Amino acid sequence: MSTLNAPQMSEARRYQQLKAHLSYLKLADAADALPRILDAARAENLSVTAALERLLEIEVNATEARRLASRLRFACLPNPHTLADFDFSAQPGVDEPLVRDLATLRFVDDAANALLVGPPGVGKTMLATALARAAAEAGHRVHFTTAADLAARCHKAALEGRWATCMRFFAGPRLLVIDELGYLPLPGDGASALFQVINQRYLKSSTILTTNVGIADWATAFGDATVAAAMLDRLLHRATVIGIDGPSYRLRHHQHTADTLRKAVNAHAS
Ligand code: ADP
Ligand code: MG
Repeated sequence: MSTLNAPQMSEARRYQQLKAHLSYLKLADAADALPRILDAARAENLSVTAALERLLEIEVNATEARRLASRLRFACLPNPHTLADFDFSAQPGVDEPLVRDLATLRFVDDAANALLVGPPGVGKTMLATALARAAAEAGHRVHFTTAADLAARCHKAALEGRWATCMRFFAGPRLLVIDELGYLPLPGDGASALFQVINQRYLKSSTILTTNVGIADWATAFGDATVAAAMLDRLLHRATVIGIDGPSYRLRHHQHTADTLRKAVNAHAS
């Protein structure tokens, strides 16, 4: 962008030029904030350094917010939960220090995995989502999917001659959440697609897997014992396993109703 010689430029022209520079560089938020920052600089007698810092901080914050929004869009998280929403006292079966350690995201830096194992309703998806959100907020590329969805996408990709692209997609995120392994039988080539995804991520990037199938039962649950063993081998090599065997949070009110009813019936009978 052409500029006049600095001494010849009037203050008003200089202001217009500065605003044009900011727009040209696509620093739209800084351009918007410019009059406000200049007023503040005058009113508060800010140094040039302080005024520039304040101006650019606005642009940095806006850029960071845009990038986070884009990471969260890509992440496809199924709910808005954070770890703060998880009520540990409602689920004494879950090892809180272990979950808090995962939440430091050191496991993502180490390309380690996490396995959440337990029956339906105990908060596996909620915890996986909360960890994924924390990772996205910390700047990591995160993607959430279910085992059935992953299998279906891989199957479709294979039919359409996009297998390699599909594998690259699932290799990409620093943290991949694969939810609900074992709820639905994986279609034909599902187990092998899942194995390939896990194998190519092994030692490179982190995977969180949630399942209702106890590790001892994997061989029978996935039909192919060899694939199940190979998959477990990769997953567990560097993994935190969180077993949640407490009551279903979803059914807790029903449970309470059932207990109350039972007590009433027993009291009546005795
Ligand atoms: P799972 O994936 O193990 O079947 P979810 O994570 O879907 O269980 O949890 C079922 C419902 O109960 C969700 O709405 C979840 O937010 C809620 N929930 C489960 N555990 C807790 C908990 N400890 N504190 C707060 N909400 C919970
Ligand atoms: Mg779930």
